[in-house]
Amino acid sequence: MRPLSFQAVRSLAAGLAAAALTGGALAAPAAAAPVHAPGPVTEQGGSGQGARLHTNTELARELKRIEHASHGRVRVRSIGTSNQGRPIWYATLGTGPTRLMYVTQQHGNEPLGTESALLALRSLGLGDDRESRALRSKITLGIVVRANPDGHHHGWRYNYDPGADPEYGEPGKGYDINRYHDPAVAPDDNPATEAAVIQRQYAAFRPSIMVDYHMQGRYAFPPPDGREITTSILWPTNDDVSAGALRAAKQVGVRVHDAFTGAGAVVSQYPGGSYEGIARNAYGLRGSASLLVELSALPQERENFQIRSAAISMVDLARAAASGALAGIDPARADAIPPRGPSLPGGSAAAARGAAPAHDAAD
Ligand SMILES: [Zn+2]
Repeated sequence: MRPLSFQAVRSLAAGLAAAALTGGALAAPAAAAPVHAPGPVTEQGGSGQGARLHTNTELARELKRIEHASHGRVRVRSIGTSNQGRPIWYATLGTGPTRLMYVTQQHGNEPLGTESALLALRSLGLGDDRESRALRSKITLGIVVRANPDGHHHGWRYNYDPGADPEYGEPGKGYDINRYHDPAVAPDDNPATEAAVIQRQYAAFRPSIMVDYHMQGRYAFPPPDGREITTSILWPTNDDVSAGALRAAKQVGVRVHDAFTGAGAVVSQYPGGSYEGIARNAYGLRGSASLLVELSALPQERENFQIRSAAISMVDLARAAASGALAGIDPARADAIPPRGPSLPGGSAAAARGAAPAHDAAD
């Protein structure tokens, strides 16, 4: 099966995504426009050109709205609470044997993947046509939607833990959740609350595919190409990941690369490290086809493109998993994806949104 074109996904979503993408009726019905809570996170209601981000309160409301509209096909529940007591939402759909798990926004100031997840849930969960039903009979998809609600609220990368003096994170602020997935650390011993929540959910669900959505700064391919990179991806790079899990992760990577490219994205490899606490490595070590996706912090007028392309990748991967197409992919194609080029001058200006750390910490 070829990766979905943008038009195909638009069709699949029956216009739902398009409405949401324009900041329109689905995300914020005119009759019940959400009130933006004041806070450090910049929320845009339609006056600006950037994407409209859901506050934590709005996210909960939108997930319930999707669940209701799906007539039981999308199930939403809290799988734990953040250090400040906010629910960590988990949405599932499908009843099939092939299990996929997506995680968004472990880093609180990398918000776009969460918006993509809402579109993907609508696209995959609401249709009652034969194709949609067939897809949901072949896969079960679980999405941790905004793993770090406290970080989102505060507009920062870490969780909220003022008592923390972490090996990875910032003293007095919190832990870097995406350094605390080491399979050797049991959830009960994990100092990063939200990482433990993900660990437990992973263990209960045992997905064969695990994709973790983040954001990075701005980069371009070196001349003469010169194109700005919109998306970077990477599979596990820890030496102890089995050959089979690495092969499967690269097959997922190729498929995700093709879906993004088909949507108009410019994709590179991501230069990530081998530390086993990073989700990309940790869930590869546990045997899943594990992939990192990094959306570049493009200018605000391109945020909706970023959201849409990532949603397409989420939907397309579910379809590929359902059809068995992944097994036919040559994993060596992943290695041929070009490396990330240099940082763009002023690329950290995108961090004005709070979207990416200026120092561009990895993964
Ligand atoms: Zn990140």
